[in-house]
Amino acid sequence: MNDTTHYAECWREPGHQACAVAEVVRLRDVLYERSKERDEAQRDAARYRWLKSHFRVFSPDMGGQHSYTLAGSMRARGPSLDAAIDLAMEGTQAP
Ligand SMILES: [Zn+2]
Repeated sequence: MNDTTHYAECWREPGHQACAVAEVVRLRDVLYERSKERDEAQRDAARYRWLKSHFRVFSPDMGGQHSYTLAGSMRARGPSLDAAIDLAMEGTQAP
């Protein structure tokens, strides 16, 4: 929306049909972008949950500064860290 297209009382104007269509197209693009962002956030959340499942408490601390360590040894390979984690997730089950 800008000064020459859709505005609050635009529906009363003869040009509203074209601006309404343009607004639908714009909102469709926004929806597509938000869907991509949501999908990526969901993938990141799944990676985090998977990584978290491979850690355990190493040393509890009375002050609350607990230490955590990887449970067992873990290696991941891939063209990026995300890709390596994805491949590791596909090949293993969470402990
Ligand atoms: Zn309009």
